[in-house]
Amino acid sequence: MTEEHSNAWAAAAIRRVGADGPQVAPTPLRRLPLAAIRDIQVYLKDESAHPTGSMKYRLVRAMFCEAIASGAIKADTPVIAATSGPVAIAGAHFASLLSLDFTAVVPARTPPEVLARISGEGGRWQIAEQPPAAAQEEARALAEQFGGHFLDHFTDAERAMAVCGEPTVADEIFVQLSREQHPIPQWIVTGAGTGATSAAVGRHLRRHGHPTRLAVVDPENSAYFPAWVSGCGDYTTGMPSRIPGIGRPRTEPGFLPTVIDLMIPVPDAASIAALRWLRTAAGIEAGPATGTNFWGTCHLVARMREAGVRGSIVTLIGDTAGPYLNTHLNPSWVHARGLDPAPYEADIERFVHTGEWPAGARPV
Ligand SMILES: *Cc1c(COP(=O)(O)O)cnc(C)c1O
Repeated sequence: MTEEHSNAWAAAAIRRVGADGPQVAPTPLRRLPLAAIRDIQVYLKDESAHPTGSMKYRLVRAMFCEAIASGAIKADTPVIAATSGPVAIAGAHFASLLSLDFTAVVPARTPPEVLARISGEGGRWQIAEQPPAAAQEEARALAEQFGGHFLDHFTDAERAMAVCGEPTVADEIFVQLSREQHPIPQWIVTGAGTGATSAAVGRHLRRHGHPTRLAVVDPENSAYFPAWVSGCGDYTTGMPSRIPGIGRPRTEPGFLPTVIDLMIPVPDAASIAALRWLRTAAGIEAGPATGTNFWGTCHLVARMREAGVRGSIVTLIGDTAGPYLNTHLNPSWVHARGLDPAPYEADIERFVHTGEWPAGARPV
């Protein structure tokens, strides 16, 4: 293919990726009424409404655009990822849209439903020969062998979002809130996996000079909270997070601590309690990381009330409940892990109905 032709392919491919599906319209911003709390409006930006059911859709879309624009993905480049998570599903989705070959190198115990979703989006999968830590290298080697592109979300998503990420989740939030009572939120609350979403939101706030602050919630075992507190850029816990999508055993290169105003460590049992509350009391079918977001949001709403501040606060629904019905949403799975969400569920109930938050009673 001549340069001219490959550039024409690239331009068409970027248009195609950018114009995919119903996401051209923004994902919904939903108001979450809390009975006793009338002066503060809580909103959930529903990122599970993307065609692949997860906020990773936005990141992978930006990574495809950036890789195509910089010549790393061409008309015949196979794309390879090293995950069975939502990045694999979104990767298969965009590769299929561009008629590119896609392979996910997945861990040995990946559930058949997850493999079926990758296949359903037109991708292939192969079981990693190496343990998870080395699967990255295996995927990279596979990409090299076949002249492919390794979709390395922990290294590339944050930069891809900065270069090719528009509209970002923050762009959409500010447009959607402009029609509401408090158009400039006091806080935006998110978790960090790759760190790309929090980086994109933080950059947006500075570029536009908004007074909104960015809070990042962090689950147990994650390196991010200690990294942020200590200023140590290579902090490592070596322990996996139990909340899918957020919390990492090491400080990933896409994590941008300088844009984060506050980090809130959230106990895993509190994340699960919040997830259950959202499901049973508010009818919101979300994944565990949304529980973590909601716990952190309650904490900040309580702080706003204490300070007599009215206004709005926005957090994200990161993915859907479906993949977690047998795990985080299954009481025996939760119990078998020594987690007891009951006291935290009681805290949320009391908060919603009285506005009282157990500040200091338990770890935030
Ligand atoms: C990936 C993920 C996050 C974190 O987003 P990053 O941009 O990777 O930091 C939050 N929630 C869910 C459900 C995710 O899958």
